[in-house]
Amino acid sequence: MLTRRRFSQLLIGSPLLASSSFGRAAGASPASPAQDMGAALSQSRDLLIKGGTVIDPSQNLHALLDVAVKDGKILQIAPDISADGSRSVISAKGKIVTPGLIDVHVHVFEGVGPTGVNADQYCLGRGVTTAVDAGSAGYFSIAGFRQYVIKPSATRLYAMVDIGARGTLMGLAGNYSNLDWVNPQLTARAAEANKPDVVAIKARLSKEITGANDLEVLKRALEAAKISNLPLMVHVGDSYSPLPEILRQLRKGDVLTHCFTGRPHGPLDANGKILPEMLDCRERGVLFDVGDGGPHLSLDVAEKCLQQNFLPDTIGTDLGGLSYNGPVYDLVTELSKFLLLGMSVDQVIERVTLRPARMFNFGVELGTLRPGAVADITILEVREGSFVFGDSTGKKRTGRQKLQSVAAIRAGKTYINRSDDV
Ligand SMILES: [Zn+2]
Repeated sequence: MLTRRRFSQLLIGSPLLASSSFGRAAGASPASPAQDMGAALSQSRDLLIKGGTVIDPSQNLHALLDVAVKDGKILQIAPDISADGSRSVISAKGKIVTPGLIDVHVHVFEGVGPTGVNADQYCLGRGVTTAVDAGSAGYFSIAGFRQYVIKPSATRLYAMVDIGARGTLMGLAGNYSNLDWVNPQLTARAAEANKPDVVAIKARLSKEITGANDLEVLKRALEAAKISNLPLMVHVGDSYSPLPEILRQLRKGDVLTHCFTGRPHGPLDANGKILPEMLDCRERGVLFDVGDGGPHLSLDVAEKCLQQNFLPDTIGTDLGGLSYNGPVYDLVTELSKFLLLGMSVDQVIERVTLRPARMFNFGVELGTLRPGAVADITILEVREGSFVFGDSTGKKRTGRQKLQSVAAIRAGKTYINRSDDV
């Protein structure tokens, strides 16, 4: 919550606010016409988002505040900023304003293999300003992914390099069954060559992908991660080896995705208790991502984990060609599933803003509306009603709230997601 003292700290803490109307309204000494013109220019705002409830876990904010943007950066965040001098004004009355949403698990290598969807349509068009492609490309194709997907996309995109040479080019089945195509040195070299766009290595440890090779694949993926000084994201669910054998090898900063899988070798024991190795992992700084993806989320498993106070660190969707038409649809639908399971709006927002911003080294400060940060902003609406959500088991549950993206602002440029709402 925003206290008066905290609000004062925000004002004081911002160098950009020194030139804002706050200081000048107090009656500074008269300036020359030239100075006045300069001051007027410096005071103008490109965009003002007015009247929304700002939820920004990075600043512990949950309050009615306006957000001003200039030159692609957050200029000011304060109550009742005058609309005068703002080139564009968006009313966010009755809506939620958050840092731009970050999805740490998507597949957007469109046209290459069965898993890729269009990033701007399914990310920026659905409130997601930053997304990380989770290993659609291996060492052969990561440079092409960077050239033909990351560069031309309006969505801020990053990538993980798959430890398998072909990524998802030919689907997933049998990808690591020939270990000649699982090469830590070449994977690390490709990751290094494509930094800062590459932020992690990816390994998928389900038995239909690894055969009996899962622990050897994990070893090679960890080696690639060590050489390239990057975290490793490991996909689990129906692994050949029991999950604890995989968990024991993960390091601080590595990420386990599909953490609420309902497939064999999931996070729960036969009595529905969280495996002690999951708790050990969390204790030493391993991070847990949802990665729904269609076959990878059981609402029952997630519910049991939440009941044992085991919340995910990030809510990545695993959005792609096999899940965009349900049951994932998009990130805001995924967040709505976790509202249904009992998490609060603030809790789910934190897991797609502040926490993913800390998960990887993006090379730019994301996940915050702090003045001076890039102006990546999402405007959301919470709809009340009766909404049906499904999971990989085909079970359906009905929730009372659904998040809907209204607009996404990426580096100060507005992308309207729902024209009837703004
Ligand atoms: Zn995935």
